[in-house]
This record gives sequence, structure tokens and C-alpha cells, in this order.
Amino acid sequence: MPVLRDFFIHLSENQLLNSAAQRYGLKLGAQSVVAGTNIPEVIESIKELNRHGISCTVDNLGEFVYEKSEATKAKNQILDVIEAIHEHGVDAHISVKPSQLGLDIDYDFCFDNLMEIVGKAHEYNMHVNLDQETLDRLQPTFDLMEKISETYDNVGTVIQAYFFNAKENIEKYKDYRLRIVKGAYKEPANVAYQDKNDIDLNFIELIEYHLLHGKFTSIATHDHNVINHVKQFVKENNIPNDKFEIQMLYGFRKEMQLELAKEGYNFCTYVPFGNDWYGYFMRRLAERPQNVKLVTKQVFTK
Ligand code: FAD
Repeated sequence: MPVLRDFFIHLSENQLLNSAAQRYGLKLGAQSVVAGTNIPEVIESIKELNRHGISCTVDNLGEFVYEKSEATKAKNQILDVIEAIHEHGVDAHISVKPSQLGLDIDYDFCFDNLMEIVGKAHEYNMHVNLDQETLDRLQPTFDLMEKISETYDNVGTVIQAYFFNAKENIEKYKDYRLRIVKGAYKEPANVAYQDKNDIDLNFIELIEYHLLHGKFTSIATHDHNVINHVKQFVKENNIPNDKFEIQMLYGFRKEMQLELAKEGYNFCTYVPFGNDWYGYFMRRLAERPQNVKLVTKQVFTK
């Protein structure tokens, strides 16, 4: 349903709606996929997942950052999250969006912010993943990762399978811990596959490549066909469990998350929290329009 996908992606990019949503707290069903609005709430969610043998990667939600003061505020919040993870002794690491830390304002400023975050996480032996966003931020994010890794080894990023150059990038960055995803944004046909089958085929190829040749692999998907393929592939190629993990988003396919953890696979849930939930939530609706029922149910039951 590409029309619906485009509609939600378009909504996700609307700054006015984003600001309005922040004022009204978690609405429209967002609370089922966002683990609260503050640190105590997210720590409770992590503890609950940890109890089931699931580790977490925490995203302090934030988008549309065009002022340095907002990026500094986001950085300080992320530093607080790192402290809280350490203090509570929970099994979690950090995911950050470079745009939230000022990438669209000033590259060097963003680099400094990230260095503080990765440095603090390094003290606690905690990994930091730089989430990948839109095409214009793709290479700058790889560059940030490379530059940070001159000082710290606890940083990695994401490979988006819809990009034609994903294979080239995964080869170039194979020595990093990488999360591999299909890709969540709308990218033009001259740079990215548009057809689901093409994306799925490339996704599998990238996962296999990194499992065989790369550092640690995070396979981030809710697609059971891909997960079943991975299970078979690691068995046939004797790839040990400590070389990879499966990741899913908080609130999605909860039964399957528990099952995979129970089966003994390293499983990591991506746990977003905070007031800035709107863009994240709209992208989730774009990926899977069936989730619209989350919205309509909420509207009709309030
Ligand atoms: P889809 O192609 O959405 O689904 C494939 C099939 O799986 C569906 O047809 C259906 O049969 C089944 N399925 C999917 N979801 C469900 C469900 N909820 N319930 C039941 N069946 C279902 N994107 C980025 O661009 N940058 C990032 O940094 C990034 N980080 C991510 C981190 C994590 C942990 C995850 C899980 C995703 C991330 N994404 C990121 C989003 C990703 O790119 C995809 O847009 C998103 O995961 C949807 O693709 P999918 O692989 O889950 O499968």
C-alpha cells in the first residue's frame, strides 16, 4: 500500500504536528510502541524486558532539531539515560540519531556532542549505535562513526538495505558492529530500491555478508521469513550465537520476541521513550498500515 506509506511518511515530516503532539503526551495509540515519557518509566520497561532475557537499545526520541540549544538539551538527556542505565545495572545500550544532536546545524558541533556521549558510554562499557536516517545524512553519519572510532571502539551504525550502495558500504564498514535494516524513509528511485522483493533480497544478502565477514551483526526486523532464513543460515555456517543478535522494536510482535529469547538467541528490543514520539510513530504506521487500528481503536475508545 504505497499510497498509505507515503501519507504517513509525509505526516512524519510535519514539524507543526510534531510540536503539537509533544504538548499532548502519548496519544493515538503511541503508548503501545513508546516505553513512556521519562527515565524512570523507561528503566522499568527495560527491567521487565531484561527479566525475560532480552537486552535493550534505548532511543531518547527527538527530531526536527534546528537549534544548538535543543541539541545540547538532547545530549544532556542522553547522558542522563546512560547514567541511569549504569546506576540501575540494567542490560541496555544506546541508540542515537545524529540529527537530534545537531547534524543538520553543524557537523563539528554534532561530532563534539557524540564524542561526549560515546565517551561516557565507554566508561561503562556500553555500546552506542548511530541510527541511520535520510540519504542526506547517510555519509555524514558514516564519517562521524569513523572519526569517533579513532578514539573509542564502542560505536557502530546501521546499513539500510533499500540503498543501491548498501553492499559497498557494508564491505567498507565491515569491521564495525552494524545493525542491518530494510530502511524506514522514502528515498528516490535513482538511489534506492522501491520494490519490496528487491529490498528483501538485498537485505538477506547484506545480513549473510556481515554474518560471514563482519564484526557483530544486529539483524533488525519483524519479518519472520527473514528470521527463519537467518536461523537456518547460522546453523549451516556454524556462526556462533555471540556473533549476532536479533532486534525488534518495542511493542511489536511481543510473543515472537519472547520466543526468540527463550530459544537462546541474543535478542535486543529497541526501546524508544520521550515526548518527541510523533515522527517515530508515524514512520511505524507507514511501515505497517495494519497498525492504523492502534490509532482508530484509541480514537473510538476515548
Ligand atoms: P516488513 O517489511 O515491515 O514486514 C515484513 C513482513 O513481516 C510483513 O509482511 C508481515 O508478514 C510481517 N510483520 C511485520 N511486522 C509485523 C507485526 N508487527 N506483526 C505481525 N507481522 C509483522 N530504519 C532506518 O532507516 N534506520 C534505522 O536506524 C532503523 N533502526 C531500526 C531498529 C530496529 C530494532 C528495527 C526493528 C527497525 C529499524 N528500522 C530502521 C526500521 C526498518 O528499516 C524497517 O522500516 C522496519 O523494521 C520494517 O521492516 P521489517 O523488516 O520489520 O519488515
